[in-house]
Amino acid sequence: MSYLFSPPPPPTLPILDSDQVFPIRRVFCVGRNYAAHAAEMGNEVDREAPFYFLKSAHHVLFANGGEVPVPPRTENYHHEIELVAALDKGGSGIAVADALDHVLGYAVGLDMTRRDLQQDSKDKRRSWDTSKDFEYSGLCSALCPPGKGARPDHGAITLHVNGALRQSGDLADQVWSLAEIIADLSTLYQLEAGDVIFTGTPSGVGPVVAGDALLGAIEGIGTLNVQLR
Ligand code: MN
Repeated sequence: MSYLFSPPPPPTLPILDSDQVFPIRRVFCVGRNYAAHAAEMGNEVDREAPFYFLKSAHHVLFANGGEVPVPPRTENYHHEIELVAALDKGGSGIAVADALDHVLGYAVGLDMTRRDLQQDSKDKRRSWDTSKDFEYSGLCSALCPPGKGARPDHGAITLHVNGALRQSGDLADQVWSLAEIIADLSTLYQLEAGDVIFTGTPSGVGPVVAGDALLGAIEGIGTLNVQLR
């Protein structure tokens, strides 16, 4: 048997100081994980349960230093700077205390969003797929292993657009810690090596257009520099 057409190669992320690349399996995203961002979107945050949406693995790419296109069908294209974690070990029913042992590395990510389509979906009680899961919607830096001092629970997270500070927060302000997110996701899914998690954005989300230069940074983890075209 042969393939009808050539399957695309798996999407990958580079790993700092490594000859190997990380093959992406699935991409989980956390909604409303910083109280200040939830408030700016008109929502209250509670600790009842985190909520999730997914992106297609092929919609995520290593984009540091590169150009990415603005997607069609939006007049309100938004940036969301986020801590990203990549798992190299899977499991189900993972304990919070063991959760970070499943992380290969961390990255600076952008959960790009067609905010106008998202608002329309919210109004109509429809899914977020077309506002969150489209080509180039998940932008990522190289993965930084935890051994290099990267940590998911403390440190400044910022986004500058054309040199102006737009988003500024601290990982310590996450409603759900990464360890709690991994543990919770592992009760919904059989987590696997290759799974990637976008952990939510701090406040200050806003529109960007072609020509804008985005510079994201997370203390101890790295930077993500992207030009929109
Ligand atoms: Mn997000």
